[in-house]
Amino acid sequence: MTESKRADRPDIANPVRTRAIMNTYGIAVKKSLGQNFLSDVNILHNIVSAADITDDDDVIEVGPGIGALTEQLARSANRVLAFEIDQNLIPVLAETLAPYKNVDVVNADILKVDLADEIAKHLPDAKTVKVVANLPYYITTPILMGLVSAPIDFAAIVVMMQKEVAERLSAEPGTKAYGALTLAVQYKMQARLAFTVSRTAFIPQPNVDSAIVTLTPREPLTEKPFSDDALFRLIRGCFAHRRKSLWNNLQSIFGKAPATKVELQASLDEMELAQSIRAERLSLEGFIALTNVLHTHNLF
Ligand code: SAM
Repeated sequence: MTESKRADRPDIANPVRTRAIMNTYGIAVKKSLGQNFLSDVNILHNIVSAADITDDDDVIEVGPGIGALTEQLARSANRVLAFEIDQNLIPVLAETLAPYKNVDVVNADILKVDLADEIAKHLPDAKTVKVVANLPYYITTPILMGLVSAPIDFAAIVVMMQKEVAERLSAEPGTKAYGALTLAVQYKMQARLAFTVSRTAFIPQPNVDSAIVTLTPREPLTEKPFSDDALFRLIRGCFAHRRKSLWNNLQSIFGKAPATKVELQASLDEMELAQSIRAERLSLEGFIALTNVLHTHNLF
């Protein structure tokens, strides 16, 4: 372990030290920012292992809080780049992470940063970039959508979220959890629910159960959509009214003009899909094929 990575104080993720840091800095937890600090070091070790962090990896963290996970990442990774929206936590992080010279903390809203620019600026020599985070749950979906649609080949995204959202990421067609988020994530990555985490591991305790999900690059798809935008417009539209049939949702997307209906019907026939089928029955490959068929019928 290099000098810059040596810990000379107890772990931040320890209930006594976490509370001491909160008292010293007068930190009143902001529920509106999803602030639930992890105070169980074993869980942090498990997260770092699930992400298989080595000193070849540069890591992006969303929401370092008081630095509990950041510290564990800094001990294993090459560099850590962490984005924290709460400016009150910036001086706290400067102090708690002072022993780790391989950490950059940026005071910014993760939903507003251009990650490719930030990587070029802070991690110019990055070999592999991974994202590891205990996400602010109120914006789990937009963060995930931002990560999977960014023009960056992440080697892994390992994130803690509400268990219910974690289940949606790895859901199979035909299940209640399967939907637009499942497909958006699975288009780029393979999702696996790694382990669940008890509420008691956090200060304060959240009122939902949590799980760690690992996302790794998926096998290449055999058929590509003619346009990613069209694929995602179709997916969003087909899940806009879950209880309605695919046919009804397609009419909401493309309109009900008689000529349009003829082309929609011809597209379904080509796909051998009944009007009554629901979107949740269609696999990712099915949505891609349907996007391309609709394109050949001039609907996109
Ligand atoms: N990583 C710490 C831990 O595990 O103890 C804190 C995790 S806490 C669940 C989420 C963190 O995300 C908080 O520190 C919160 O202030 C921060 N946060 C909330 N919204 C954010 C945003 N839009 N951009 C960046 N950070 C955000």
